[in-house]
Amino acid sequence: MSAELICVGTELLLGDILNTNAQYIAQQLARLGIPHFYQSVVGDNPDRIKRVVRTAIERSNLLIFTGGLGPTPDDLTIETLASFFNTELEERPEVLRDIQQKFERRGRTMSPSNRKQARFPRGANVLPNPIGSAPGIIWQPRPDLTILTFPGVPAEMQRMWQDTAVPYLKRQGWGKELFYSRLLKFWGIPESELAEKVSHLLNSANPTVAPYANYGEVKLRISARAASEADARTSIDPVAQQIQEIAGLHYYGCDRDTLASVVGQLLQTRGETLAVAESCTGGSLGKALTEIPGSSVYFWGGVIAYDNRIKEELLGVNVEDLATYGAVSATVAKQMASGVRDRARTNWGLGITGIAGPGGGTPEKPVGLVYIGLASPDGTVESFEYRLGDTRGRDWVRRVSVSHALDRLRRALRF
Ligand code: ATP
Ligand code: MG
Repeated sequence: MSAELICVGTELLLGDILNTNAQYIAQQLARLGIPHFYQSVVGDNPDRIKRVVRTAIERSNLLIFTGGLGPTPDDLTIETLASFFNTELEERPEVLRDIQQKFERRGRTMSPSNRKQARFPRGANVLPNPIGSAPGIIWQPRPDLTILTFPGVPAEMQRMWQDTAVPYLKRQGWGKELFYSRLLKFWGIPESELAEKVSHLLNSANPTVAPYANYGEVKLRISARAASEADARTSIDPVAQQIQEIAGLHYYGCDRDTLASVVGQLLQTRGETLAVAESCTGGSLGKALTEIPGSSVYFWGGVIAYDNRIKEELLGVNVEDLATYGAVSATVAKQMASGVRDRARTNWGLGITGIAGPGGGTPEKPVGLVYIGLASPDGTVESFEYRLGDTRGRDWVRRVSVSHALDRLRRALRF
């Protein structure tokens, strides 16, 4: 028992509009726990629509269509389906009346072309459209096959999905099980390495474990199909536990946790405070920290020290060290961290200095070279060097630098 989505519309193929209907339906099916293995986009062409249907009915028993229910000649979904299943179209007087009334209420007269929207395959039920003219169908052309059609207009499709399709599918026994997932988040381990370490879990069927990565962050989604959320959690918990043990300190949180929120919780638990000094990230670290509500308890502020003079005058970075080692150096990162900690009188200080690019790199100091300084409550100051490369762009270097800085502090706070 699985569903398949077929979005009809040449404008989708041309890239004129984004297929947000596919995203909506896919999320809805996942939430309902309805298995869904294929999606297609096909133009407004009867032969090609039929080809897609021919393939879909071999592998799926719930076909969901969006688009092509309008009154114009290029709106072909219903008549093509009727023709494919050798079923006659018949006019439904009650649907015609409903469409006429909708036009009258808006003070308009129905054009003859709208009449077509009242023609349904014999045996199909009406899937009402409370906010637009084109209704859809709920049709079982064969005992093992259900077809639902929706207009292309997202608001109409969504309303019809919620009002009629979801209750209908539930009554038919679809979606008895729900789909529940937990997203585990990691920093400091490459996706491939983590995937290898948990490879024995990647082929399991329920719960499933699937890796994702973006902006240097690696995630594992554990998804379970179960009769209730509690049952799903019971099957997810031991898998999550096992993964956390394997990943050790690289695991930092789940679902809505971010590196900044986790650092915030750790600081708050310890009753400690933080200040930051940023060069190449230009305030993004402060932004990430202050995005967390209540962060004023542990985050006291920072300095955007872009120019060397600001590094010297506001942070106390040594002029000679700046000349000898350069602004992008381990020494300067450490002095930025301790300088801001001392001046803000916080427990912790973080410093970031680096070359975000695209210009400004040299053979010794290429674009993507970043130093993080970390000043601890006991007075020790460490530095960490990262070579993030020049291929993924300035924004990437800046974002990843912020995460590395937060992660360094997170690891220090975990001891
Ligand atoms: P109408 O009665 O408006 O003609 P329809 O059912 O025939 O409705 P389409 O003509 O295919 O639907 O699309 C109508 C509009 O709905 C499109 O111009 C587009 O803005 C939007 N739309 C169609 N398909 C999608 C889709 N898959 N994702 C997002 N928007 C869509
Ligand atoms: Mg149309």
